[in-house]
Amino acid sequence: MRLDREHAHALDAGDALAAWHDRFILPRDLASGRELVYLCGHSLGAQPVLASEYVEDVMRDWRSLGVEGHFTGRHPWLTYHERLAPALATLVGAEPAEVIAMNTLTANLHLMLVSFYRPAGARRAILMERSAFPSDRHAVESQVRFHGLDRARDLIEIAPRDGEDLLRTEDIVATIEREGARIATILLPGVQYLTGQLLDIGAITAAGRKAGCVVGWDLAHAIGNVPVALHDAGADFAVWCNYKYLNGGPGAVGGAFVHARHATDTALPRFAGWWGHDKATRFLMAPEFKPTPGAEGWQLSNPPILAMAPLAASLEHFAAAGLPALRQKSVALTGYFERLVQARLAGRVEIITPSDPQARGAALSLRLVGLTRDRARAVFDGLRRRSILPDWREPDVIRAAPVPFYNRFDDVWRCVDALHAELAA
Ligand SMILES: *Cc1c(COP(=O)(O)O)cnc(C)c1O
Repeated sequence: MRLDREHAHALDAGDALAAWHDRFILPRDLASGRELVYLCGHSLGAQPVLASEYVEDVMRDWRSLGVEGHFTGRHPWLTYHERLAPALATLVGAEPAEVIAMNTLTANLHLMLVSFYRPAGARRAILMERSAFPSDRHAVESQVRFHGLDRARDLIEIAPRDGEDLLRTEDIVATIEREGARIATILLPGVQYLTGQLLDIGAITAAGRKAGCVVGWDLAHAIGNVPVALHDAGADFAVWCNYKYLNGGPGAVGGAFVHARHATDTALPRFAGWWGHDKATRFLMAPEFKPTPGAEGWQLSNPPILAMAPLAASLEHFAAAGLPALRQKSVALTGYFERLVQARLAGRVEIITPSDPQARGAALSLRLVGLTRDRARAVFDGLRRRSILPDWREPDVIRAAPVPFYNRFDDVWRCVDALHAELAA
């Protein structure tokens, strides 16, 4: 294992995807004007150069076409969301009709739970993880209460074993087998946001469906990061946001997946709006709601086109580069990161994220060992002064995601070198 920076440069020189870096605009240090080592693609992806052009296209059509922009122009607004579906579908392993870009993650989670959390008889619990992202927990708990049920009884939480940080597939499956008869819906993250653990979506979905449960996934940290195969796994629904690995911009329009077997199920309860109405007859303005088949039938409103434009740009890049190639680089980049941390920071930094590349995405969660909370935070702040930008989770964890689109092996080297210097200081 070579620890020198020249080796990082050699890896960059051999990187077939290196040119993509220049199609993104990375944040810069205000004082020096130099690009930051941006390792926060797990929180807010970098801006594609193309995004401004696509936003300006919408601005121009609005200026010059007014309301007719819905029907004319380069990308009419009436069908703008359809432009996003094929690339989104590829990323989550779905058919285009199974995915929809709409609303935001938490709003979509509520809409999905309205349809797919239908407690009845003895089967009324939701299974989720104890360390779930707070918004998912708020959504689930409020849904449980909305049905007049009891959080303490009807929310089943799965957690790592004592002394462990990661969930074990066997424990999740065992819980499903043990409690299955009282679980209405399972909601788990594709990639866990704190630990970076990639769950076995196929095995867990299969176990859940075998037990008669509805199975949904939160792909916030998975989409655009790791390959996902929702359709083949048989998942009932999924939700995600598009501003993390998908580079759709702050508060970007989110996404949802509804499996094809529910495409025409009009018996499913849903909260409806006119944009979910049958496209062929929407403008007849009939009072009865008739949903468009597929995921589009869950739309509420006519979509925020300006907010979709940057996502359209980013999705074009995903389609061009291809997730398999990105993932291949990602595995190499994160593997290099892991080996450097192990070689240079042993004993001072513990990697929480699984070491199996098949059980993680791009990000590593690094626990600063044996430091007080304030000292650990000072190390993180020191990284920022050195123009390295990962993110911070209380009380002692740094999460850093080298993103294959725009990060370099040299970024990883500099991050570890800066950590080494800060920990020695
Ligand atoms: C980022 C993230 C969210 C954010 O929800 P929004 O509705 O987009 O604000 C929710 N859940 C998970 C698991 C996340 O990682």
